[in-house]
Amino acid sequence: MIDISTKEVWFITGSQDLYGDEALKQVAKNSTEIANTLNNSALIPVNVVFKPIVKSSDEIFETLTAANQEKNCIGVITWMHTFSPAKMWIRGLTALQKPLCHLHTQYNRDIPWGTIDMDFMNLNQAAHGDREFGFMVSRLRKNRKVVVGHWSLDTVQKKIGDWTRVAAGWDDWQGAKFARFGDNMRFVAVTDGDKVEAETKFGFSVNSYGIGDLVKLIDAVSDDAVNDLVKEYEASYHMAEELLEGGEKRQSLFDAARIELGLEKFLVDGGFKGFSDTFEDLYGMKQLPGIAVQRLMQKGYGFAGEGDWKTAALTRAMKVIGSGLEGGNAFMEDYTYHLDPAAPRILGSHMLEVDPVLAADKPSCEVHPLGIGGKEDPVRLVFNGRAGDSLVAGLMDFGNRFRLLINKTVGEEVTEALPNLPVARVMWKPLPDFETACEAWILGGGAHHTCYSENISVEQMEDFAEMAGIEALVIDENTTIRDFKNTIKANEAYYMFK
Ligand code: MN
Repeated sequence: MIDISTKEVWFITGSQDLYGDEALKQVAKNSTEIANTLNNSALIPVNVVFKPIVKSSDEIFETLTAANQEKNCIGVITWMHTFSPAKMWIRGLTALQKPLCHLHTQYNRDIPWGTIDMDFMNLNQAAHGDREFGFMVSRLRKNRKVVVGHWSLDTVQKKIGDWTRVAAGWDDWQGAKFARFGDNMRFVAVTDGDKVEAETKFGFSVNSYGIGDLVKLIDAVSDDAVNDLVKEYEASYHMAEELLEGGEKRQSLFDAARIELGLEKFLVDGGFKGFSDTFEDLYGMKQLPGIAVQRLMQKGYGFAGEGDWKTAALTRAMKVIGSGLEGGNAFMEDYTYHLDPAAPRILGSHMLEVDPVLAADKPSCEVHPLGIGGKEDPVRLVFNGRAGDSLVAGLMDFGNRFRLLINKTVGEEVTEALPNLPVARVMWKPLPDFETACEAWILGGGAHHTCYSENISVEQMEDFAEMAGIEALVIDENTTIRDFKNTIKANEAYYMFK
């Protein structure tokens, strides 16, 4: 359900009328070549669309407001091939609502020492032209990404590509709808927050729906559809004996499949990109949705438990950012600790809803009692996570601002069997070390619900926070508690005046 390949970013080159037609033709030719190269780069997952050179305040305003209006346009890349006096950019930049990436490059890679003359200099002026532009963006206090280097380099194209992914995640939020079945888990603080402020800041809406509306759809699912989905389960997973035909718990599997089909219909009919539920509000449902939620997350829906709409939305955005890459992005909870001083670790899981995008191997489909929710035993997928570089990100409402807290982590193989804990699990080591990371996370007011990512970088998450205009705090290999505390204090003052 997630495909960003049809999205586009506009490549907009700044110049001015001073240089004459010949020079401007050359600017357009060079700029087209750069845009085409970026468009064809395997490192950039969206289309890069060349736009005619802008040379005046009116042209800039028209191009940037057209970018606002174009539905497929998720951001603009600007570059000053020549000098482009930046007062011309004030009106357009002020009106621009899409994310901005300033590519600080130059058409010529090397200085042609033997032949360089004033004609060359009339064309290759990014060294000063981009600085003039940069001043204006800073003067307007606009967040943007700056990418530096020759446009032919993989490192430069990768940075642009990574940014377009983030812009796609941001674009996905605009107008997105998230459904909440029931309210927040009673008395829980961090999962709650200001939904009006969130819609203002992030562009997505969160509304709640009575569980009865969902139950009606679940009950209306046809037996044929249920049978087909059970066959799909059997073809996809290792099935527990008791769930197989003739097995003692066979009926639970049919009930679970019916829940999945009803839930999916609700989400498709309503055009939702994600949802949350709570075990305190399941009236009329036979089981707490386990496998249903797991498979819908794998399909691309954002989800978080206990009414946690912020993490559901964050997970959806991160699924878009990482779409098409190896590895996954998944709702996660800090479940329990392994405090062996030689190798302290965090075991991540949830009571049921762990996303199979993280599965190292084919999951097994099992049914077990759940001591919470007071319903029949829920069917769930059980698996272990993978080893590899990762991060966790949490989104919290601090009253006067949202904070995105990011911790760099290293995923590890789960080698123990855990025969009595039938949930999917992921294990990781937080950076810089367990004690510092957890101390900083607690000081940063970080949630126990996060999105765990195997394919998004810290830089991308910081860029995402900048697009949203919210606070980002990072815990990584360079974090010290003293600096972290000072950053929090400085940010408190910054956001008081912002
Ligand atoms: Mn939870």
